[in-house]
Amino acid sequence: MSEQAQAVRELDGGWLQAKAPLPYSLKWVNAYLLPDESGWTLIDPGLRTEETEAFWSEALAARSIPMSAIHSIVVTHHHPDHYGMAGWFQQRTGATVWMSPVAFASAGRLWGEGESFSRELTEAFCRHGLPKELEEGMNAHMRGFPERVSPQPSDVRLISPGDRFTMGGIEWDVYGAEGHAPGHLLFYDRSGGKLLCGDAVLPDISPNIGWMPGGDPDPLQSFLESLRALRALEVSMAYPGHRNPFEAFSQRVGELLEHHERRLRRMEELLGDSGLTAFELCELLFGARLRGNMHNLRFALAETIAHLVRLEDEGRIARNGEADGQISFAIQKG
Ligand SMILES: [Zn+2]
Ligand SMILES: [Zn+2]
Repeated sequence: MSEQAQAVRELDGGWLQAKAPLPYSLKWVNAYLLPDESGWTLIDPGLRTEETEAFWSEALAARSIPMSAIHSIVVTHHHPDHYGMAGWFQQRTGATVWMSPVAFASAGRLWGEGESFSRELTEAFCRHGLPKELEEGMNAHMRGFPERVSPQPSDVRLISPGDRFTMGGIEWDVYGAEGHAPGHLLFYDRSGGKLLCGDAVLPDISPNIGWMPGGDPDPLQSFLESLRALRALEVSMAYPGHRNPFEAFSQRVGELLEHHERRLRRMEELLGDSGLTAFELCELLFGARLRGNMHNLRFALAETIAHLVRLEDEGRIARNGEADGQISFAIQKG
């Protein structure tokens, strides 16, 4: 069996977990294929690259699944590593693409005709201390995404938290989780305890907190609130967007909540009363090596800003003016 075919494994219920390749430190994104009487539902088909196309052609052939057997494509959230192949698959299968209205709008904002998001993001990062010499690198990084989500699906149908949705012969309760990506959906099988959780909760890795200009002003707060709500679900097996399915869901949620509490305290310590920009704090936390990897830098800086915004809202730190066009933060005195 080829390496690609081995990256597909069968789970309970005849489900398939396909590890679609990623050119990032995360290595792969999990797509799940759920069978029913009339064919397959494909969840989170991956980032559109030549490598992913070859992966899918080989993986489906090895399992004797023709393209025409895929009748539905479900996208948990709009991030390119999950959504990128949706249009490519739709063109080949004629499948319906399902996603949340907010995720659909986000894809339009980020990669629609005449988008201005990339520039807005880089400008916001510059105000948060991104050095001039990294500005063009960040812009170039952002310009690389449209081709990785193209073609975008032409026919999208919408599902929202609170809906019920049938796939793989199971009727799912649709949940939402904010903070990682706007309009992120989760699918919960109330009778079997299965939870398709996308990137809202991951084993081993802390999901990135996705601050962005013009988005959720306090995504960490939204994330923590979502986690507290999800913690109550009785989950027998969670199926995440990265790494492998895991059982101890509520324990993992607890770990993530603690992780962010610790991170908030650590940032407060590092800030002191000297005043640092988000970028300076980010380098103190994650190291200067970030400068060589725009992808990781973007995630780290967005997450640092999300934590600073939270600390500011709690009154633990204060924002210094934008005197020289840059925002800095320091411990709130007295
Ligand atoms: Zn994501
Ligand atoms: Zn992801």
